Amino acid sequence: MHSLISDTSAVKFGRYGGLFVPETLVPPLAELAKAYQRLMKCEDFKEELNLALKTFAGRPTPLYYARNLSQKLGRKVYLKREDLVHGGAHKLNNTLGQALVAKKMGKTRLIAETGAGQHGVATAIVGANLGFETQVYMGEVDIERQKMNVYRMQLMGAEVIPVRSGSRTLKDAINEAMRDWASSFDHTHYLLGTAAGAHPFPSMVRDFQSVIGKEARSQILQAEGRLPDSITACVGGGSNAMGIFAPFLEDEDVRLLAVEAGGRGLGKTDRIADHGASLGLGTDGVLHGALTKILQDPYGQILESYSVAAGLDYPGVGPELAFLAEKGRVLTKIADDKTAMRGFHALSKLEGIIPALESAHAVGYALQEPEALGDLAIINISGRGDKDLATVMDYENL
Ligand SMILES: *Cc1c(COP(=O)(O)O)cnc(C)c1O
Repeated sequence: MHSLISDTSAVKFGRYGGLFVPETLVPPLAELAKAYQRLMKCEDFKEELNLALKTFAGRPTPLYYARNLSQKLGRKVYLKREDLVHGGAHKLNNTLGQALVAKKMGKTRLIAETGAGQHGVATAIVGANLGFETQVYMGEVDIERQKMNVYRMQLMGAEVIPVRSGSRTLKDAINEAMRDWASSFDHTHYLLGTAAGAHPFPSMVRDFQSVIGKEARSQILQAEGRLPDSITACVGGGSNAMGIFAPFLEDEDVRLLAVEAGGRGLGKTDRIADHGASLGLGTDGVLHGALTKILQDPYGQILESYSVAAGLDYPGVGPELAFLAEKGRVLTKIADDKTAMRGFHALSKLEGIIPALESAHAVGYALQEPEALGDLAIINISGRGDKDLATVMDYENL
């Protein structure tokens, strides 16, 4: 791998981002960037995407005033309900957008990587719906851990390809998908699952997810007549956070709180970081085609991340969030497994909403530091918790 940064302003966020990829991947990334730029200016494309978001994904999602949680926290708290998107999380906002781009580019096959299987499922959904051949790379270890999602993908006609290299988890699956794409891009689109990777993925995924923030902005203005004091979102690779933050970046009075996985605690052993807090605790390095903040040892070897929420278990973070955190526009916070479990139970009991364990990190953080939210807060509920029930039951029995 070597650096191949061409044009600067469009592909970078401060020193983060860029295109750190093998030369074979430069043509497909350039083709994608060009097609995407053209389509985002095309009214027909935008209409088609909006119609799919409305009639298939179920948008707009509500901005719900959480009365009981508000009372407990002593301030007004609204929940952005991405748990109600088809598939149970925000991920479909991105897979729908990218699949439509791929279709317009004349591609007939989708490939994706998945860790917990959530992005694989969201890709299988659009693959079936829009008529693509779909193959999903997944680490052998993850296949074993996530049987339900493997079966969901298969039900929708996707093929799950086991990855046996490295630690046989997400980062190895990403490497395999990139390798596939280098030789298949004439007919294949690589559908990356978060706002990370080489240009144009971080910008493109942010744009497709920013529907969350655009809706939330007009919904809070409608309900309260003003912008919120804070917005809180959990961070894995950063797509739900960038999606809800993006339309508020210019509003300096809106505090943007990015909550990362503290895992079992913040101690590090040799090859393992027992958390997923790459934004707060990582250092500069290259992962999956971009310069960003990553969890690495002193020799630049990627550490294995960990979180009870599989969707936050990624050793890197999107380059734009790394940039915004460094600038101080986004504030980095950490919630560990225990805090997330507290958030999970609290939201279930108080509001009758069972959040994904990922989203429960944002809720748990709010319970832990309510003063940070100000008087009027939005918390992004990135997904629903049905997928996590077995994990929570196991955790309680430890
Ligand atoms: C995948 C996932 C996340 C983490 O991904 P981001 O790209 O950081 O948003 C968060 N919440 C849910 C429910 C997820 O499925």
